[in-house]
Amino acid sequence: MALSRQRTYYKAMRRAVATLNSSASAKEKLEVIIRGTARSMKAGTSLVLLDANRKKLIHSFSRGLSQFYLRKGVLDAEASLSEVITGQPVIVPEVAEDSRIQFPEVAAKAGIVSMMGIPVMLGGQAVGSLRIYTKERNEFSNQDVNFVTTMASLAALAISGVLSPKEEEAGVIKSENLVETTPLRKVRPATFAHPSEEEFARILDFYNIEWVYEPRSFLLKWEGERVTEMFTPDFYLPGLDLYIELTTLKQSLVTGKNRKLRRLKELYPEVNITLLYKKDYDHLLAKYGVGPLAQTRAHGISRVLYSVSEIDGRVRALARQISKDYADRHPIMVGVQRGFLCFMADLIRQITIPIDLDFMAISYYSGDESSVVKITKDMDLNVAGRHVIMVEDIVDTGITLNYILNHLRAKGPASLSVCTLLDRRVRRILDVPLDYIGFEVPDEFVVGYGLDYREEYRNLPFIGIPRIEKKRRKKIGRQKD
Ligand code: 5GP
Ligand code: MG
Repeated sequence: MALSRQRTYYKAMRRAVATLNSSASAKEKLEVIIRGTARSMKAGTSLVLLDANRKKLIHSFSRGLSQFYLRKGVLDAEASLSEVITGQPVIVPEVAEDSRIQFPEVAAKAGIVSMMGIPVMLGGQAVGSLRIYTKERNEFSNQDVNFVTTMASLAALAISGVLSPKEEEAGVIKSENLVETTPLRKVRPATFAHPSEEEFARILDFYNIEWVYEPRSFLLKWEGERVTEMFTPDFYLPGLDLYIELTTLKQSLVTGKNRKLRRLKELYPEVNITLLYKKDYDHLLAKYGVGPLAQTRAHGISRVLYSVSEIDGRVRALARQISKDYADRHPIMVGVQRGFLCFMADLIRQITIPIDLDFMAISYYSGDESSVVKITKDMDLNVAGRHVIMVEDIVDTGITLNYILNHLRAKGPASLSVCTLLDRRVRRILDVPLDYIGFEVPDEFVVGYGLDYREEYRNLPFIGIPRIEKKRRKKIGRQKD
């Protein structure tokens, strides 16, 4: 047993040295060292580094433990361990009973029983710590301590490779650049405490926003080691580094939560947390087309392709460009009914130069081989000698647009350009010139923001993909206006 352990340690060190001597990046080197340590110790392993001000510990790399707890929970809990300050190893066989652990409950929640911290020394100064966490009680033998100390030295060498001599002298390391970039694992609860939480989680999923339910308990008050008050926010959104607490209708609870939140912000000023009131929550749902305040329903939509704010951003950018390009030309903007409606309405309100507005309507009828476009309402304004901008919702095969452009060209405009919100280039049959494009869309039928499926969904504020069987798609693509 002892011998095989030794062999494992030896192998891990040999690998680490080999990578150190390779052209791998500092991050890759650290990753090999941490992985080797975790495997050999059969324990969770994490490397924490002091920030440039030597005030805060920054999580750098970890293996074999819930990423979330390492980054957000345990790390804070053991900020009080002294190895980084004293440069001496610290062994904690019983996390739950040790006064050196500031928040034993947090470690316990992560399933940690014992831990060890070995300082990472660079030029005689501790710059961080290599920490070992075990789920079973462990006293850590001399052999263990020696092995981890060696791995910590190797980690220091990996870090020193990215330092200039000057920085090294000053003990300054760019810890922020040595941080692991793998995403957090999603923690899915079996049950939610409240239906509104489940609804909220569904919305986050719908928008592809990563979330963690009840990620962490913040300790608010304690007497010695006894915790007298904690607060567990409902959600954490790693992408926004934001905690969210949903409130129910009860005003009595809201007051208490507000007080706790104030205390939390005092104790953990680096934590971003938002309290979502019932009213705000309903507004949020409505924005996404669901809930009691929603005018539209997003039922039957499998996913959102472009959110309200994404569309808004693109429309503003297009309007800026058009305003610039047509500064002295007083263009006529022409839309083709009816899919262009939302796009055109938003677009023209962001355009800062004088414009004229006109509309056309078309229908499709079946010809010999395929459907043919027919103009059912022509433009009212005189186009001859004017600068014309065609506004389209989506250009698919290009057949419709090609027909309309030919029709307009015959009227003798000074210039003719096309502004389309969506461009599905993969299905193009006729090559039509597009001057302003909102988004290039994938080969999927889309609805919302003016676009319909059998007249439904036009009033959705976002663009989404409805659930329709594939074989139907081909048919409907050309029936719409
Ligand atoms: P095209 O002639 O370029 O093939 O088709 C243009 C018209 O077909 C568009 O103006 C639009 O009305 C309709 N269309 C094409 N693709 C879609 C789509 O994904 N969703 C919806 N609702 N209409 C589409
Ligand atoms: Mg159209």
